[in-house]
Amino acid sequence: MDFEETDEERAFRVEVRAWLDAHAKRREAGEQSDHSYMPGDGSPEADALHVGACKEWQRVLYEGGWTGITWPVEAGGRGGPGWQQRIFNEEQSHYNAAVGVFAVGIGMAGPTIIVWGSPEQQERFLPAMLRGDDVWCQLFSEPGAGSDLAGLRTRAERDGDEWTVNGQKVWTSGAHYSDWGLLLARSDPDAPKHKGITAFLLDMRTPGIDVRPLRQITGASHFNEVFLTDVRIPDSMRVGPLGGGWRVANTMLSNERALIGSGGRVGFRDLVALAKRCGADDDPVVRQELARSYTRLQLIKWLGWRARSRKDQGLGPEASVVKLAASRRLEYDGDLVMTLQGAESMLYDDDAIQHGYWQQQFLGQWSSRLGGGTEQIQRNVIGERVLGLPSEPRPGKDTPFRELPS
Ligand SMILES: Cc1cc2nc3c(=O)[nH]c(=O)nc-3n(C[C@H](O)[C@H](O)[C@H](O)COP(=O)(O)OP(=O)(O)OC[C@H]3O[C@@H](n4cnc5c(N)ncnc54)[C@H](O)[C@@H]3O)c2cc1C
Repeated sequence: MDFEETDEERAFRVEVRAWLDAHAKRREAGEQSDHSYMPGDGSPEADALHVGACKEWQRVLYEGGWTGITWPVEAGGRGGPGWQQRIFNEEQSHYNAAVGVFAVGIGMAGPTIIVWGSPEQQERFLPAMLRGDDVWCQLFSEPGAGSDLAGLRTRAERDGDEWTVNGQKVWTSGAHYSDWGLLLARSDPDAPKHKGITAFLLDMRTPGIDVRPLRQITGASHFNEVFLTDVRIPDSMRVGPLGGGWRVANTMLSNERALIGSGGRVGFRDLVALAKRCGADDDPVVRQELARSYTRLQLIKWLGWRARSRKDQGLGPEASVVKLAASRRLEYDGDLVMTLQGAESMLYDDDAIQHGYWQQQFLGQWSSRLGGGTEQIQRNVIGERVLGLPSEPRPGKDTPFRELPS
């Protein structure tokens, strides 16, 4: 791979920057985005403001023709190569642009519907996602099914042209402000656990859905418990084949890993600005740590390029390598930002430097390190699918789900 930007890439970057200059405010190094979540932002009002800002910016992107850069043209996208999305994201991160709430929709559910959705579903959902009309969430994990997702117990029972769904999901990011969710439910308990799952597109305003926010260590409430009681879903909202939900889930999960791996919580120039602010930028040990941080960032960037350059063959286990590397970076950089602040790292909210933005980054690292598959699970994937090590014992793989111990 050639690491120098080609003329085409450089020209694209210039075009993107010019457009962003004309439509958004550029952030200086160390200057916080107006749209960063802050420690006190756990309230529904703060969420509503954030969702509103994201929708507004998404609409600007849509009208400017910058949404769905890698989506096929038939799906309303630009049909561009992965490097265009990468360059766009890199440039956009330097501006005051709110983008967070569409990550699950445009980054994960959309690509899944492109692969598995019916033409009617694609027409109904994809343009609305790109326009920023609908916010999506991922209704996969359950109290007893996180790493072992195929052990999920939410039941979907067929009733004529509809399904009745009962069960509980947990850790559902953004469910409290989502319009739609991609749901996995067990449709056939007599089939082995990976084979009896079906995927559905769920209107989050359907009667029987009870969303209860969970409070995180950062003070915010980004994710929720979701209780489903006799929720009716038309069969036209089934996505993918009956009993084929595991394959649908894998499409969504590999997109999630790549998405999490491609995002850095702490930008390098912001880190350097913090070091300067703390008067530590000429400390040789700090400089060494900054150099390490920069090196890690570059390695993740190149790993991400490698994963994405294979995307036409399907996102492979490389996505796990990127996610694991990004996860480790969050840990090291989290320690560094706390060390830089010294005793002030114990302060929070308005008492702290930049209103506790860095403490928020430190405490928030676990969300990315666990979400989308924990570090241990990424290591399992890498061991088995990259290094070719013997696979983990998987007892009960062929046993009917209802005979498995619960
Ligand atoms: C911030 C955040 C947002 C999330 N958002 C969503 C969302 O929107 N939608 C959704 O569906 N889910 C979401 N999740 C759930 C996430 O996918 C799960 O938390 C994750 O898969 C781990 O599952 P678990 O929490 O049940 O932990 P468990 O699976 O119970 O794991 C507990 C511990 O055991 C380890 N472990 C488990 N199995 C193995 C194994 N086979 N080998 C080695 N170690 C193992 C794990 O690594 C972990 O350390 C989110 C989680 C977080 C933290």
